Amino acid sequence: MTHISQLTLSNFRNFVHLDLQLKSGVCVFFGGNAQGKTTILEAMYLLAIARSFRAENERELVNFKAAAVGEQALVSGAIEKKDERFSVYVGYQPQLKHRESNNGKSTVNGSLAETASFVDNSNVSVRKQIRVRRKPCTGTELVGLVGAVLFSADDIELVYGSPAIRRRYLDILLSQSDSNYIKMLQRYRRVVQQRNQVLKALKERRANLDELDFWDDQLIKEGSGVIWRRNDAMGRLAIFATEHYKNLSDLNQILAITYLPSIPCGSDIGDTEYIFKNRLHEVKARELAQCSTAIGPHRDDVALTVDQRDMGVFASRGEARSVALSLRLSEASYLSSAKGEEPIILLDDVLSEMDMQRRIRVLQKITAYEQAIITTTDQDVVELHLGSGPDYFHVLDGSVNNVT
Ligand code: ATP
Ligand code: MG
Repeated sequence: MTHISQLTLSNFRNFVHLDLQLKSGVCVFFGGNAQGKTTILEAMYLLAIARSFRAENERELVNFKAAAVGEQALVSGAIEKKDERFSVYVGYQPQLKHRESNNGKSTVNGSLAETASFVDNSNVSVRKQIRVRRKPCTGTELVGLVGAVLFSADDIELVYGSPAIRRRYLDILLSQSDSNYIKMLQRYRRVVQQRNQVLKALKERRANLDELDFWDDQLIKEGSGVIWRRNDAMGRLAIFATEHYKNLSDLNQILAITYLPSIPCGSDIGDTEYIFKNRLHEVKARELAQCSTAIGPHRDDVALTVDQRDMGVFASRGEARSVALSLRLSEASYLSSAKGEEPIILLDDVLSEMDMQRRIRVLQKITAYEQAIITTTDQDVVELHLGSGPDYFHVLDGSVNNVT
């Protein structure tokens, strides 16, 4: 059982200050475009996955005016679990860089915002600080403490988008449910980076082949671990996905999700390592020419088919949305079963694009969770189905009013 009972924002995007008390159950944030609805979900999800789901660079999160004068942005939440309550805090302290102004004089930024033709916080870098129960910790340590699943309109890219989007889906799911996974994944990513540098050095004759052997061993060890865990998770996820898809429509079609590892999974982890080693040997010449690691979990994908039709190629928009919804519902089912704890459900403006039947079924599913936060531009859409049950909040220009 997990829910957020309090959310405080300072200088977070268009919220200069916000202090929200939240109950378990359903909370609805409604309002026009560009008022701050997604920002509220972004803040909540930040407490779960330790970073923004949409900012390319986290300096974008600091309110423009606050960034210009060096004030920090802050998201903090009180998390309620079965028998404990704890605080999570994520702060971004902007560090102003000095830059040349148009007339060649160096200026302290702040004035730059007025002379620039647009504002993007690019004159700022941020120092991020995370605290759990008031104690400093790393993002890796935070992930998994507060389970959450975010549904967004962009989820359709899980179907149509590049393999990287599907890998990210798997990585977030596994990182939240298995603290060893996130550490292993980070080690793997570092190994790929270092190995690519050695490949480059070899091409430029600055290194010898023995150095590569060490990185090959690391790559095989960490990579096989990642593949093996992904493979294991996919088995369980696939069952949830087929079930959720069937439940969303009455068509009785079969959604199959299949892991496509870049190296075949062996019968056990030792076998995977053996296959990895052989494959690596086969691609070595190509890797040396391209200075990049050619195989491994950073090249994995997930196949999505409905009655054996490849959804990436043949899905209609509606089908793609249903597949994406099924993947998110499966993520929630998976986290519940793997952690024995329900994730917080965050729905960013996805109800209005569903037909009536899907809307009813999705709402049925998500309202069974301990806490579901819904944003919408159209309050009526939610009210039609949930009546006066939820708490309703009106979001207007970076402020929030409880109108329940
Ligand atoms: P929509 O219905 O269009 O999805 P929304 O209510 O979800 O809108 P948000 O995405 O939360 O809106 O954005 C709210 C506003 O905050 C936007 O106008 C955005 O440009 C603005 N904004 C984003 N980053 C910052 C920042 N760092 N400082 C100030 N304002 C910002
Ligand atoms: Mg939005």
